[in-house]
Amino acid sequence: MRWMENRADERGDISKYYPEAKSVISLGLNYFTGNASSHPDVGKISNYAWGDDYHDLIKSRLYNLLSEIKSEYPKINGIVCVDTSPIMEKDWAQKAGLGWIGKHTNLITRDYGSWIFLGELILDIELKYDKPFNDDLCGTCTACLDACPTDAFPEPYVLDSNKCISYLTIEHRGDLPTELENKLSGWIYGCDICQEVCPVNESASPSKTAFGRSGTSLVELIPLLSMTQDEFSVFFKSSPIKRAKLVGLQRNVCVALGNIRDRAAVPALVRALHESEYSLVRSHSAWALGCMGGSVARGSLLDAITIEGDAEVRKEILDALNAIDLLSLHSGM
Ligand code: SF4
Ligand code: SF4
Repeated sequence: MRWMENRADERGDISKYYPEAKSVISLGLNYFTGNASSHPDVGKISNYAWGDDYHDLIKSRLYNLLSEIKSEYPKINGIVCVDTSPIMEKDWAQKAGLGWIGKHTNLITRDYGSWIFLGELILDIELKYDKPFNDDLCGTCTACLDACPTDAFPEPYVLDSNKCISYLTIEHRGDLPTELENKLSGWIYGCDICQEVCPVNESASPSKTAFGRSGTSLVELIPLLSMTQDEFSVFFKSSPIKRAKLVGLQRNVCVALGNIRDRAAVPALVRALHESEYSLVRSHSAWALGCMGGSVARGSLLDAITIEGDAEVRKEILDALNAIDLLSLHSGM
């Protein structure tokens, strides 16, 4: 999230980003397709990532809108923003009357709930402004705060991204925090729990926009573990999921498999432990095998420790062996 900190000045003052700014036109696009799969063999993927990358689609629509405006008023100039631009897009959407910022920190609209992408057109002329959405319709509800498996909300309207599954599975590089590994609830890319439980989203209708690709919501966990870089590049070519990179996605898959404890995943985890080129994947495979227990997992960990050259991975293997011995002790095996 360093990119956010790096441009904090512009984020706090839109004129530093676009000095000619006089108006912000804020737009939302419904992306709801359905809730994440509850099938245990399938990695959970956030709704917004089920289609092709939305940035290009939204940008092209915003550029079309700007061209239409310029065709009637050629002297008007503007820029378009989607997601990564250094502006407070949820605040602008609220100021533009689209909705309110809920306790889970997402913007919520009356018509589409919180399943919306935001985009902005910043123009260099003054317009007749809409009224801000000043109501907070969350009321006494705390469903999102109560449902978060990692306690990522230190207080309502405040999100600790270091604890958020969405941040951890997409942006975070390196090891996942040990104390959270058991709490990722099967998510391998993003997390929708706080939106799924929101009562405003109960009446959300599926989006009419075609975001491309189908089946990204149904990616089986075990085959992902043996995916090569070339296969990953082809399969996720136009998907937002490529942001996690192969190494991050396979790390997340190991954690999901370790939490499911399905012994059918042992051969794939053993292969990853011995053959993955990524130390991160080897160490998380070891962790997952430690969760599984059993003689095959134990034997492969003992083999791996004799050949593993990375000190961090060796430590994870030893921890996994200890976990298996503890499991055996408790089960009397
Ligand atoms: S996205 Fe998931 S982990 Fe993040 S705050 Fe919401 S429920 Fe918690
Ligand atoms: S779940 Fe409740 S508190 Fe959370 S955003 Fe929705 S309405 Fe607000």
